[in-house]
Amino acid sequence: MNGTRVVAPLQACEVERFDEVTDVLVIGYGCAGASAAFEAARSGADVLVVERASGAGGSSGLAGGELYLGGGTRVQRACGFDDSPEAMARFLQEALGPGADAEKITAYSEHSVEHFDWLVARGIGFKPSMWDEPAWVPPTDDGLMWMGENSWPYNELARPAPRGHRPAAAGFGGWLLMERLAGAADGRGVRTHYDTSATRLVVHSDRSVLGAVVRRYGSDYTVRARRGVVLTTGGFVDNDAMLALHAPHLLEHGKNSDGSDDGSGIRMAQAAGAAVKHMSAAQVGIALIPPMVARGVLVNGYGQRFINEDTYPGLIGHAALQRQHMNVWVIVDEDAYEAVPEEQRWGVRPYHVTDDLAELEEAISVPPGALRSTVEVYDEYAARGEDPYFHKAARWLRPLRAPYAAVEVRSGLRPPSASGGNAGRQARGTGASVFTTGGLHTSVDGHVLDIDGAAVPGLFAAGRASCGMHGSGYVSGTSLGDGTFFGRRAGRAAAAR
Ligand SMILES: Cc1cc2nc3c(=O)[nH]c(=O)nc-3n(C[C@H](O)[C@H](O)[C@H](O)COP(=O)(O)OP(=O)(O)OC[C@H]3O[C@@H](n4cnc5c(N)ncnc54)[C@H](O)[C@@H]3O)c2cc1C
Repeated sequence: MNGTRVVAPLQACEVERFDEVTDVLVIGYGCAGASAAFEAARSGADVLVVERASGAGGSSGLAGGELYLGGGTRVQRACGFDDSPEAMARFLQEALGPGADAEKITAYSEHSVEHFDWLVARGIGFKPSMWDEPAWVPPTDDGLMWMGENSWPYNELARPAPRGHRPAAAGFGGWLLMERLAGAADGRGVRTHYDTSATRLVVHSDRSVLGAVVRRYGSDYTVRARRGVVLTTGGFVDNDAMLALHAPHLLEHGKNSDGSDDGSGIRMAQAAGAAVKHMSAAQVGIALIPPMVARGVLVNGYGQRFINEDTYPGLIGHAALQRQHMNVWVIVDEDAYEAVPEEQRWGVRPYHVTDDLAELEEAISVPPGALRSTVEVYDEYAARGEDPYFHKAARWLRPLRAPYAAVEVRSGLRPPSASGGNAGRQARGTGASVFTTGGLHTSVDGHVLDIDGAAVPGLFAAGRASCGMHGSGYVSGTSLGDGTFFGRRAGRAAAAR
């Protein structure tokens, strides 16, 4: 993707007459765009969505469909869990890493039950049943799962409750979410222009945003947005020039996107005076099978454990990329490997099987004795149901028994529903696939802010085009979750202008 395309805004005085007029212009039709468009239309605005692709979806349509929701949703209660907005906010503040946005997290947690109900009212159903093992996405249509809330250190910070909610679809459920959200926006009279890219914003001399220049079938035309422009164009993981500038540590890894995360919306807004935030932050999908890892040990290039293996796998990915440069191995015994049914192994195979840990050390190139010492200590405490190093829950602790095997995360995975787009985890690579979570600096209502913290008049953003709630950390479900939640707010704020 070209990161150097000219995005300097067009001055309104250069526009003789706008080619099209709407109240609210939404650019990009993923989960954030659909939510913004729906709410803006519901607030009485005439809404036009321009989308570069030939239909709604974006990365949202390829996603697992997990939405981070809590505070006492109907599904949580049906599964027997008490939750509170305070406990949810406490977990998010910690798990989303240093710099996580406290104001957004508070709003998101306080209104999470209402947001759950809003999704249900849009036809997105959640089965009131629980998948109770670590997973990327449950292999069933169960509606609820843990996202690390019950693992150390989070289980000591706030009362744990599972908050991963997934629409009732077997396998990945992002398509269902998008089908229903776009259908709801359509039902509200939202107009759409597909195969249409926004290329520049149109600004007034007072810096307010009046509309955008869009390109369709090779021709440019201008759209006037009387009330506001909402940027919901996704992140920038597919733009190597932007990665080189803001997040070079992500350059070599697989990309978790539909291939259209080129950061165009972020660049257009920057050129019109917008500030950006946490541009080096990312989600890190690591190519391992969570229920297998929970039953084994995860070691770095020195043969040492570095995290509790039962935590949310995205947190493992973060630690593996940031601290271990993806030089990590999963060590399992036969029971740990066989405990995961073949269809849930996503193509993962042991790299080296042996009765002798010294041989395994040599095969995976860790220093002599290091793996033996790790497994010996792990086994000694596991036999007592303890893990004094990383506090893995007793449920997963059991001494490992020969034969042992190593699984290399660099070998990659083949998720069952990741056949379309650039889902990024199929091939051998670094073992990580990433998407960016930093972006435009926005207020809790989706106003894009400038470098002084003042709103850029007429400009709004949500989803991965914005920074959202995230600091440097990530938990699954917080992208579709904050994209839809803050997308709704941005749509309402734009319509109200
Ligand atoms: C395989 C996979 C699994 C995932 N699983 C989960 C999950 O379970 N839970 C979760 O929370 N997150 C998940 N994610 C991440 C999540 O899908 C994305 O971060 C999220 O969908 C981003 O939503 P968005 O609305 O900001 O952007 P998108 O859904 O990407 O939508 C942006 C849209 O804008 C369009 N666009 C871009 N630039 C322009 C332009 N200049 N003009 C016009 N249109 C433009 C794009 O074509 C695209 O359709 C997953 C991602 C992948 C790839």
